[in-house]
Amino acid sequence: MEFRRLAEAFEGIEATSKRLELTERVLALLKTFPDSLVDKAVWMMQGKIYPDYVGVELGVAEKLTIRAIARTYGAKEEEVVALLKKSGDLGVAAEEVAKRRRQRTMGQAALNLAGVYATFERIARASGAGSQDQKIGGLSELLAAASPLEARYIVRLATGKLRLGVADQTVVDALGILLSDGKVGSVTELDEGDRKSRDEAKAVVQRAADVTSDLGTVARTALSAGLAGLKRLKLKLGVPLRPMLAERAETLEEAMARMPGAAFVEYKYDGLRMQAHLGKSTEIFSRRLEQLTSQFPDVVKALEKAFPGRQVIVEGEVVAIDPKTGRMRHFQELSQRRGRKYGLGDATLGETDERDVIKEIPVRLHLFDLLWHEGEDYTTRPLKERRGLLEKLLKPNEGVALGDLRRLTDTKDVEEYFQAVTLTGAEGIMIKNPDSEYEAGGRGFNWIKFKADYDAKLADTFDLVAIGAYWGQGRRGGWYGGLLLASFNDAEGTFESLCRLATGFDDATLAALEERFAPFVAKAKPKGVESTLEPDVWLQPKVVLEVQGAELTLSPNHRCAWGALKDDAGLSVRFPRFTGRWRDDKKPEQATTSKEVAKMFQARRKRQGLA
Ligand code: AMP
Repeated sequence: MEFRRLAEAFEGIEATSKRLELTERVLALLKTFPDSLVDKAVWMMQGKIYPDYVGVELGVAEKLTIRAIARTYGAKEEEVVALLKKSGDLGVAAEEVAKRRRQRTMGQAALNLAGVYATFERIARASGAGSQDQKIGGLSELLAAASPLEARYIVRLATGKLRLGVADQTVVDALGILLSDGKVGSVTELDEGDRKSRDEAKAVVQRAADVTSDLGTVARTALSAGLAGLKRLKLKLGVPLRPMLAERAETLEEAMARMPGAAFVEYKYDGLRMQAHLGKSTEIFSRRLEQLTSQFPDVVKALEKAFPGRQVIVEGEVVAIDPKTGRMRHFQELSQRRGRKYGLGDATLGETDERDVIKEIPVRLHLFDLLWHEGEDYTTRPLKERRGLLEKLLKPNEGVALGDLRRLTDTKDVEEYFQAVTLTGAEGIMIKNPDSEYEAGGRGFNWIKFKADYDAKLADTFDLVAIGAYWGQGRRGGWYGGLLLASFNDAEGTFESLCRLATGFDDATLAALEERFAPFVAKAKPKGVESTLEPDVWLQPKVVLEVQGAELTLSPNHRCAWGALKDDAGLSVRFPRFTGRWRDDKKPEQATTSKEVAKMFQARRKRQGLA
């Protein structure tokens, strides 16, 4: 099969922006190639030669490609560079040079797809001494036999710059059509039977894509073995599946209403998602299913220790750890490890450096799911069973631990957990349905994320006075992680506790909190401060800051407007968030008064029809 056919298909796709037409063109491409080549055609259409998880990319440097073009066509590099500057596209530059210099020599064999692919494989895998020459040589070979149009796409593919804009979904749609009615056209034009069979076919294709993360293989299987073949595609060790994603809920009540009574409520770690495959060798994939294995040799070791002699696929979130305290550090620390992938080719990042980074930024993986075990797919089993097996198999060590989980039924308990973990620096919680399957590639309400910053429903802001501070834990270790805030009772001249504040601080602010409050630290509860809660550190009521809250509630824990609305209850702000504004322009006595808070509470109730 000639490579020309692929280049022409690409040209057609490139000229199309309408979704339906695009699907049509992709469908035509799928029909053009035999099943033995269609996987390669699909990968190349998406600008690569392997599925992402393999982690081998073409990406020949622009400089080398320019050299290859110049050498092939007997042109000066300056000429190629000038053309590149004009069009901004090295593929177009190559096409132009090819047109100017010569057409393919008469009698020379046309490029075939299998041959082009094999050369690309060679180029991608060339490494070490002499690899530059191999890459230039391989590219020259291809260009010498290419038509100008073919040269355009060969160069774009080689440099990793082919962007035809064919989304995965378009390929899935086209395959669904191919395996059902075969007609492209808007769904409304189809009769009901056709529509149903098309939807069913698409669902099968989608599932196959989610399980294999590889549309090339899905296309090949679809062509060679049809829907039945796709249904037989199974989760496999070494082949990542698309991760399950979470929906968000506006309120905890809403989240819990979607649960079957009890829920798994988990700590939401702020790190990097990892899908780990342990078998003969261990491989780790990112949320985007890219290879992480070589960046985290320490996690590989820890995992192998945690599951000795086992074959499993597990999932979790890796976080950076402070080597001195063992506490979690900020996500940014972890990105320094991540950066290494992009640091390749940087002379300062050698072997020794890598070892240092592992020591400097140790990490811990918190596992929350198990997807496959000893040949058996667990994704269709309920979460509680998956978690149960994970807890049974895992031998925790320094580098691998179980993610924190509570089995809760009462929204109040969920809220308490949420408050407790966000106060120590968590970005939120995950609420999961214990009876749910693992929906690879799906986003649904079986996993609900609830983050501290969602609630902005209270448009009103409060200017509150800090009366205490809490030491942070986790990634806020060593810093103040939260504050106890009060409103001002202007009748009594006292400061009445209203809420604990832990969110809305950026890192710079957090790091500077202790210093900011140092002049106001008190040995005991200062006079004029009303609070039943005991913060770690008492503060003189001097500093005013602006806070936004989600809701006002009656609370037995806070003293604001105590007894005014209900016996033995005060008022509290739920989900308070620092807006970033220090109200240094305000004296503490100018803070929001307890009376105002009580008024707001009553107005709100009225609006909700509760009073
Ligand atoms: P978000 O990135 O905000 O959409 O939140 C979902 C992400 O949270 C997941 O993709 C994971 O990387 C991360 N995460 C942290 N802790 C958990 C957990 N216990 N369960 C599931 N995902 C978690």
